[in-house]
Amino acid sequence: MTLDQATIDRLAAKPVPPQRLLIGGNWVEGEGEPVPVISPINGARLTELAGASAADVARACAVARAAFDDGRWAGLAPADRKRVLHRLADLIEAHAVELAVLGVRDNGTEISMALKAEPGSAAATFRYYAEAIDKVYGEVAPTAGNVLALIHREPVGVVGAIVPWNFPLMIGAWKVAPALAMGNSVVLKPAETASLTLLRLAELALEAGVPPGVFNVVTGQGRVTGEALALSPDVDVLVFTGSGATGRRLLEYSARSNLKRCYLELGGKSPNIVFADAPDLAAAAKAAAMAIFRNAGQVCVAGSRLLVEASVQEDFLEALAKATAALRVGNPLDLGTQVGAVNSLAQLEGNLRFVAESRAEGAEVVRGGARILTETGGYYMDPAIVARVAPSQRLFREEVFGPVLAVTAFETEAEALHLANATDYGLAAGVWTANLGRAHRMVRGIRAGVVHVNTYGGADVTVPLAGAKQSGNGADKSLHALEKYTDLKTAWIQL
Ligand code: NAD
Repeated sequence: MTLDQATIDRLAAKPVPPQRLLIGGNWVEGEGEPVPVISPINGARLTELAGASAADVARACAVARAAFDDGRWAGLAPADRKRVLHRLADLIEAHAVELAVLGVRDNGTEISMALKAEPGSAAATFRYYAEAIDKVYGEVAPTAGNVLALIHREPVGVVGAIVPWNFPLMIGAWKVAPALAMGNSVVLKPAETASLTLLRLAELALEAGVPPGVFNVVTGQGRVTGEALALSPDVDVLVFTGSGATGRRLLEYSARSNLKRCYLELGGKSPNIVFADAPDLAAAAKAAAMAIFRNAGQVCVAGSRLLVEASVQEDFLEALAKATAALRVGNPLDLGTQVGAVNSLAQLEGNLRFVAESRAEGAEVVRGGARILTETGGYYMDPAIVARVAPSQRLFREEVFGPVLAVTAFETEAEALHLANATDYGLAAGVWTANLGRAHRMVRGIRAGVVHVNTYGGADVTVPLAGAKQSGNGADKSLHALEKYTDLKTAWIQL
């Protein structure tokens, strides 16, 4: 896939029509209030989303249930389901640039990253789970005597999926692809500030041959549309990526409704730990800047806490500030941009508050931290490095989800490990050291779903993303994710 600026500009000039809901293969109006879509690039209205009311959501869930029960998808031969999902991956690839540009206009991710991370990852994810369809099957248990015990894997039924606004296509695919691969029906609720690419994905899914009613999309506000989905008695399993606050609510809704299983992929405050013996401190400084500032810090696994060995702190901060100053912040549709827009005004204001508060508490703002490019009308922030952040400060413990890096120094390996684990989160981490034993000790000691060594942020559909502590439960990606979308059933047969 190649990108050129003229193609991007041409696609970005296209008006986006008002959007509708996809229920039972039909595009329908919502009964609720439409939701305006404001582009973070310039603060202008891009289009509007249909607002799905509780009744709309109930209809979508009932349709998904009926589509599951009549076997129009789950009953297909595995090879046929596989063909359809491969066709969907082909269509995503064929429309990759269009999808990437649409997504950037909606959520502000820099286009150079969006192309690979959004349609690129989504296509790879659909292919991966398409291939799994006829390779994952039941077991025969080693029981004693004249008994045959078979362990069947069955689809769970209706999967409700609620996803966030950062990387909606990629994260949506992480849920929808394995759910469909295992034969389930899906009702997807995208985020109000990033629904457009997922609506387009649903259109492509119909074109690929996913039967009507199997994949439904309801858009609208979280507290209306999302809440109705999470409360639905027709939803068997709820999969979610988003904030801890919403995750807590979903568990309550489950308890208040049908005890649906909830799998939560939540936030992070991930430590990126630089020891003085790192093989290349200059490279580590550049990587530390990208680990937090790409996509304007709106990455769940962002290395948002830099823990640096005190003996190299000053030199490292200097290199880091230099690498950060060199990043090009601006219009995310510009191919040269390295840090795009903040997703919404509310998010930008929250980011600025974190910086102001940490300054008032005595931390040192080494660089950045202000709103910039206001003349564009868009939501842009100068990446902030905040040093001497104490573990008691909110900036050390709470997720900003913006371009704000908290820096804290340590003296010993034991202190580094203690600081790394001193938050409620456990999503990701990075360790920079040339000492093999230390690298392995840190991997073992850090409570997180992924620990990167001498790099930061590498990922692939073949490996799980699974939060520890309050970063979540269950796993997205890899064959392990399939466990969320299947039930085990034992057949105990006397011979
Ligand atoms: P959010 O929790 O505000 O919203 C996520 C989704 O939940 C949206 O679709 C929203 O409409 C919906 N929602 C909100 N309130 C709801 C309610 N009461 N009932 C049902 N649905 C509701 O999160 P966000 O701001 O969109 O996303 C940012 C968060 O997502 C960050 O915390 C980030 O770390 C996290 N995230 C985690 C991962 C991961 O894999 N662990 C990946 C990306 C983002």
